[in-house]
Amino acid sequence: MDKPEISFVVPLYNESKVFPLLIQRLNALMDSTTQPIEVVLVDDGSRDNTAQLMHFLALEDDRYQCIFLSRNYGHQLALSAGLSVINATQAVMIIDGDLQDAPELFFDFYQHFLKGYDVVYAVRKKRKEGYIKKVAYHAFYRLLRSISYAEIPLDSGDFSLISKRVVDLLNQMPEESRFIRGMRSWIGFKQIGIEYDRQERAAGDSKYSFKMLFKLAYNGIFNFSKIPIKLITVLGITSILLSLVYFGITLFRKFVYHDVPTGFTALLFVMILFGGVQLVSLGVIGEYVLRIFFQVKNRPLFIIKNRIVGKKLINE
Ligand code: UDP
Ligand code: MG
Repeated sequence: MDKPEISFVVPLYNESKVFPLLIQRLNALMDSTTQPIEVVLVDDGSRDNTAQLMHFLALEDDRYQCIFLSRNYGHQLALSAGLSVINATQAVMIIDGDLQDAPELFFDFYQHFLKGYDVVYAVRKKRKEGYIKKVAYHAFYRLLRSISYAEIPLDSGDFSLISKRVVDLLNQMPEESRFIRGMRSWIGFKQIGIEYDRQERAAGDSKYSFKMLFKLAYNGIFNFSKIPIKLITVLGITSILLSLVYFGITLFRKFVYHDVPTGFTALLFVMILFGGVQLVSLGVIGEYVLRIFFQVKNRPLFIIKNRIVGKKLINE
C-alpha cells in the first residue's frame, strides 16, 4: 500500500457487535476514493472477541493497522495510543467505533482541511441519547466553557479531522490525564466546527459508564481551569472582610447602644476571621501547587505557526 495521506483512528472496547458494520462502512468509504487511507484500530483491552476480529482483518487487508493494548486504559488513552502510530502524511480522522460519528463526514471535513484548517471538529446539533445524559453533557460543556482558560468549543467531542502537525503536537504533550478535545483546542491554529446530527449507536451498549463520564468531566475541568484554586482565596478574603464588617457593627452597637452580649461576639469574630485566614493560606499553597501542576504537564510553552527568516516564509 502507498504511504497513506489520511489515517482514521478508531478506539474499540468490546465492540464485536458493531465491528462488522464498522468495517463495512470503512471499506465502502475507502473503496469510494482514490485517496490512500489507512485505518488504525486500537483494541483497548476488550474482553469479548473484538481483538480476534481485528487480528483476522489486519492479516488479510493491509489498509488496516491494528494495535492491541495490554489492558483497558479508557477511551482517551486508547485514542492517544492510536495517534502515536499513524502513518498519515496529511491528516488524521478521529471517530468512535460505534458509528455514532458517521465516517463519511470525512469528505466534508477534508474540504475544510484543504482550505487551510488544521482542526475540523464536529459539533452535535442533536443528541440521540438518554435525557439525563443529554442534560449532563449540556451543563458540563457550558460549565467548562465558563471556567476554562482554553477556548473549548461547546458540544464537540473528539470526532474531528486534525492535521498531521496537530497530531505531532498532541503526541508531544506528555500529560497523563488526557482530555483530548481540550488539548486539541489549546494547540490553536485555524479551527472550525461543523454541525451534524449525532446518530444512535449502531449496535451494542455504551462503554462509557457514568463513573467514566464523570472522570472525563473532572479531567476537563481540572486540567483546563485555574478557577477552583483561585476560588479558595476569594472565599478566604470574603470571609475576612465579613468578619471585619461584623466587628465594626459590633463596636458601633457597643458604644452607641450598649446592647452587645459579651463573649459571644468575640468568639464569632475570631471564628470567621481565622476561617478566612485559613482559606487564604490554603489559596496561597494552592497557587504554588497550580504552578507545579502546570510545570509537570511539560507542555510546549508555545507553538509557532510560521516564521519569516531572510525574506523566506517558513511553515513550522
Ligand atoms: N472506548 C474505549 N475504551 C473504553 C471505553 C470506550 O476504547 O474504556 C471506545 C468505544 O469502543 C467507542 C468509543 O470509545 O468506540 C466511545 O465510547 P462509547 O460509544 O461507549 O461512548 P458514548 O458514545 O456512549 O459516550
Ligand atoms: Mg458512542
